[in-house]
Amino acid sequence: MSLPVHNPATGELLAEVPALGTEEANQAVNAAARALEIGASLAERSNWLRGIAEGLLEGREEMARLITQEQGKPLAEARVEVDYAAGFFRFYAEELHHLEPRPLPQPIRDVPWTIHHRPAGVAALITPWNFPLAMLAKKLAPALGAGCASVIKPAELTPLCAIALCHIATAAGVPAGRINLLTGPPSPIGKALCEHPLVRVISFTGSTATGKILLRDSAPHIKRLALELGGNAPFIVFADADLEAAADALMANKFRCAGQTCVCANRVYVEAPVAAKFEALVCERVAALKMGNGMEDGVDIGPLINRAAWEKVERHVREAEQAGARRAFGAAATPPENEWGCYYPPVVLGGVRDAMAVFREETFGPVVAIATFNYKGEVVGRANGTPHGLAAYLFNADAEKARWVAAHLQFGHVGINTGTGPTPEAPFGGMKQSGLGREGGLEGLFEFTETQTVAGS
Ligand code: ADP
Repeated sequence: MSLPVHNPATGELLAEVPALGTEEANQAVNAAARALEIGASLAERSNWLRGIAEGLLEGREEMARLITQEQGKPLAEARVEVDYAAGFFRFYAEELHHLEPRPLPQPIRDVPWTIHHRPAGVAALITPWNFPLAMLAKKLAPALGAGCASVIKPAELTPLCAIALCHIATAAGVPAGRINLLTGPPSPIGKALCEHPLVRVISFTGSTATGKILLRDSAPHIKRLALELGGNAPFIVFADADLEAAADALMANKFRCAGQTCVCANRVYVEAPVAAKFEALVCERVAALKMGNGMEDGVDIGPLINRAAWEKVERHVREAEQAGARRAFGAAATPPENEWGCYYPPVVLGGVRDAMAVFREETFGPVVAIATFNYKGEVVGRANGTPHGLAAYLFNADAEKARWVAAHLQFGHVGINTGTGPTPEAPFGGMKQSGLGREGGLEGLFEFTETQTVAGS
């Protein structure tokens, strides 16, 4: 049995990958557990990470093309993704000294005490399709660095970058069994990984619905979970903000990956007196975007990942318009005939209300939905009025007000006068139903370790 992998821009069959299931998942976990019987020093692990970073950058162009082919994003964005992914391996390669044992400064009850950071064991890494390389790098780099062995389950739509990354890891000297990869339908593999007693950590990025399944299925086994789930990011523009800069930041943030990222602005809140001006600045910029096959020069927006994604975006726009939102910019979208070529031309909606689906759910598409607000307490309440809490952005000139707003936003990542998202050096993750745990930074490394306190010698 195999699963076809298609180019979402053209429908070209790129590859067929094995459709593996429960039995293979169990075999992979057992292989990972056996690989852990041979330990690896911090220096060895650091060398693996450095080697993978170098391998990625040496093959940067080829890897970027693979990302665009299987995912659809513009090639320029795919190159940035390769650099970003390499950044996680490079960062952790330099930070493993934090895993050195830490002796307490003096004996307690007459004996010495030492805190160790042991590898947690076998880690299951389950990744989505929007960043087929980077989402895996965020997990694999700290897992390898912490001394874990991994079983990877990439998204069934985009497994090829994960396969390529495994080859790079092998070339960088990572021993057989430290990294195992399963392609195939998600549910049986996911369930097997949740239920196998030797899987100690499950690190997952994807929808909140799937995160809940993993939590439920792993509960009887008390596994450690790191979950990076859906967001519904507010992007707040106060009247005193530099509106041009805020509009530029919105463009860079919103249209990456055709709007299919969990950190991209989903709800734009603009203070009423500047709403019309800000909307006009955004429309001007959106009008300049070029949509097409990501392999072509100058393309800003590629296709959506599949027809279901297209239909969700269309439903959000249609329902918003029916409920009184105004289309400030954007042509009508042509329904796709296939699972590929699902292009959705960018849309700007004004007069959006919080009750509309386009604000309540993550649209995951090239739609800028704009509402207005009147004062800071109001907008903070509305921004927090969601079960999600991943990323939020605010734009204003008054630093004290910005600090107040940031402190009251229930989001794991807050950008002040910047639309930038996560970076390897800093922890990133969600509050509320956006997840558990953090990726990136030292916090991301400790997700894959068990702290052990040894008293006595
Ligand atoms: P998205 O809406 O982003 O596709 P999903 O949560 O469906 O989010 O998918 C993210 C990843 O989770 C993919 O690798 C997918 O195969 C996997 N996945 C989906 N359902 C399950 C499941 N029941 N168990 C384990 N993994 C799953």
